[in-house]
Amino acid sequence: MSELTMDTLVSLCKRRGFVYQSSEIYGGLTSAWDYGPLGVELKNNIQRFWWKQMTQLHDNIVGLDAAILMHPRVWEASGHVENFHDPLVDCRQCRQRFRTDAIPEELWAKRQCPECGGQLTEPRQFNLMFKTHMGPVEDSSSVVYLRPETAQGIYVNFKNVVQTGRVKVPFGIAQVGKAFRNEITTKNFIFRTCEFEQMEMQFFIHPSEDGKWFDYWKAERFEYYQKLGVRDSRLRFHQHGPDELAHYAKVAFDIQYEFPFGWKELEGIHNRTDFDLRRHGEFSGKDLTYLDDGRGERFTPYVIETSAGLTRTVLTVLCDAYDEDEAEGEKRVVLRLHPAVAPVTVGVFPLVKKDGLAELARDIELGLREEFSTFYDQGGAIGRRYRRQDEVGTPYCITIDYQTKEDRTVTLRFRDSMQQVRIKIEDIPQAIRKATKEYRRV
Ligand code: ATP
Repeated sequence: MSELTMDTLVSLCKRRGFVYQSSEIYGGLTSAWDYGPLGVELKNNIQRFWWKQMTQLHDNIVGLDAAILMHPRVWEASGHVENFHDPLVDCRQCRQRFRTDAIPEELWAKRQCPECGGQLTEPRQFNLMFKTHMGPVEDSSSVVYLRPETAQGIYVNFKNVVQTGRVKVPFGIAQVGKAFRNEITTKNFIFRTCEFEQMEMQFFIHPSEDGKWFDYWKAERFEYYQKLGVRDSRLRFHQHGPDELAHYAKVAFDIQYEFPFGWKELEGIHNRTDFDLRRHGEFSGKDLTYLDDGRGERFTPYVIETSAGLTRTVLTVLCDAYDEDEAEGEKRVVLRLHPAVAPVTVGVFPLVKKDGLAELARDIELGLREEFSTFYDQGGAIGRRYRRQDEVGTPYCITIDYQTKEDRTVTLRFRDSMQQVRIKIEDIPQAIRKATKEYRRV
């Protein structure tokens, strides 16, 4: 494994259609990115994988898709209007703006700019929420915010789901969606952006069981990344110290990944206590307590939250998958993506275009489309076609040759080992299913 740099990854993402700079033809917009043909497939596959793991594989978690725009009182109740601030400083010389926690300690002590060495101002609090107006009049009564997290859409629907969803505490509500934060320090590609996507699950429990459920979700969520194919050696927990804890949290752990720019948060697991439901109860005047028939008790549930970034997971998966080795005496770039999330599952190639091989290959590809994401390629030397698929993480390739016409067998080639096996056409789907189920990164 060679050391990956962000420049290498960003250039691969652009070249192969994973991620483009937003509005690039106008010079780009800082910290906003567009997902290209392969990127959107990867992102959707990760989202589906999360959704399955977090809803369908549990019998006590249901889904929700709440609106991005919410009543402005939501953000007062949640504490975001009051507390969702970053302390910012400006450099008097180069005029750049920084989050104080992004400045190395020794420079901060001297109030010195990390870029030009100039003098920094004292910190000012800067609210991270994007504010806009709903309706034709721009006055304070029409203010709405672009949600900075998806979680609040879940809390304000707690009562609806309890009344209509046939759920009983303990249960969870899961949601995937866009969130917006007016981030100032936005380097490192799609790691921290102003518009991003979150995959959050809020698990409602009896307050006496918070320790048990916190441990449960902490273990589940770590295992999830292993199932997604992320290497253990690049994952770790980080517990929030008292000065790091958010205003709503009793206990918080991050799952961190070792990115090329260091260990950083990938997901947060938080014990939010009854903070959110209690506050929404107070601010809305509605009763958000829960009557537990079994216990014969009414209480405000505690919440264990698992909050992952979808777009940040895309970056994680790409960083983790990137590898270089050698094939036929040449350097090979290969994305060792888990087959369950790879944008293309199977590439199908005729060895040559003539003698009916192209038509036969097309037929085979069409037969696989219903179940797998396929890519047909008949251009160039076969080695080049393999290389192109390796570089975008396609785990399997099928090659149709003259022997296929005689005995209806094809070559199935595995991306990671480059091993090739000869199998019957009708056995292709089963071979792919089996290899995907048993996939272990070498
Ligand atoms: P950070 O300390 O990195 O700003 P946070 O602690 O504010 O993150 P949370 O509010 O816990 O993050 O958000 C949960 C998850 O949402 C994060 O673990 C991350 O994966 C994702 N996330 C948060 N902010 C951003 C962002 N600006 N861009 C991309 N993903 C983000």
